Amino acid sequence: MDPNAIPLISVIVPVKDEEDAIQPFVARVGRVLEALRDPHGAPVLWEILFVDDGSSDATLAAIMAANRADPRVVGISLSRNFGKEAALSAGLDHVRGQTVVPIDVDLQDPPEVIGAMLDEWRLGHEVVFGVRRNRMTDSLPKRLTADLYYRAHNWLSEDKIPEHAGDFRLLDRKVVDVIRAMPERNRFMKGLFAWGGFRQAAVEYDRAERTVGSTKFNYLKLWKLAIDGLTSASTAPLRVWSYIGFGVAAIALLYAFLLIGRVILYGVDVPGYASMMVAVLFLGGVQLLSLGILGEYVGRILVETKRRPIYVVRERIGATSDQS
Ligand code: UDP
Ligand code: MG
Repeated sequence: MDPNAIPLISVIVPVKDEEDAIQPFVARVGRVLEALRDPHGAPVLWEILFVDDGSSDATLAAIMAANRADPRVVGISLSRNFGKEAALSAGLDHVRGQTVVPIDVDLQDPPEVIGAMLDEWRLGHEVVFGVRRNRMTDSLPKRLTADLYYRAHNWLSEDKIPEHAGDFRLLDRKVVDVIRAMPERNRFMKGLFAWGGFRQAAVEYDRAERTVGSTKFNYLKLWKLAIDGLTSASTAPLRVWSYIGFGVAAIALLYAFLLIGRVILYGVDVPGYASMMVAVLFLGGVQLLSLGILGEYVGRILVETKRRPIYVVRERIGATSDQS
């Protein structure tokens, strides 16, 4: 491909330890992209960019082999594992497509949907997200926790993220440029996408099982991601403590009046150890909790003020574009 030609579609694929998934992915997605036509019936230009997120297996070699077989398949390799959100950011910086489609390598999200997404884009939508019609392939606890998370996030945050939409979506260049201009280190992509707004449309699809390899997300990682998402999208967890503090203080004041009244009427009575302990422990707990939440935010401020790069590229495979 002419290195200066602007592809219609750039597919971004973050990969971590996925040596067996690269080849089947390129075969299937390549077929889908080859079949796409512009409104005049001509084939469209496309590229697939793999972002090797610090894999310790032969993923990089697999990407190189794929690039030798088809130069439209390119890649960048990060210097270590930066996490999927950072890998996606790296991808956005190294593609030039008029539209960009982030997708997982495990083909749980069917690439055949890209055609329908492109149709919506041609109708003038700048963001076309894929929505999972059912999540039956996810385990029940994962579905429940995901559901709970989307609710909590959308309840607390101004920027609503669409439920059951993963990172699989089609973004117009305008949207990509807005996201690239966001300076924060904390890259909770779903939140960044939501912040941008733009004209949005949804395409429904059924999510498949992972066919090769294994999931890279355990509950601890998902929990961290959820906290990242909430704290970056909303300050409600910080503000709520003023109200709780106000409520507790009001109750304490009422109780104080009650005690004073009782002392005046009935004199001093010494027992009261239990109620005292309850009050001390309860307030201590509430204070520690609020301090912890404060700490979550302060820690994030620290990370942001260091202004370190979001990712480090060690190596490029093929003719990648770099717009930084
Ligand atoms: N991934 C990544 N860096 C990480 C973890 C995952 O680039 O630190 C990639 C992974 O290779 C895959 C995608 O992110 O292409 C989604 O991961 P996975 O399928 O394991 O997540 P799940 O579908 O189970 O949520
Ligand atoms: Mg997956």
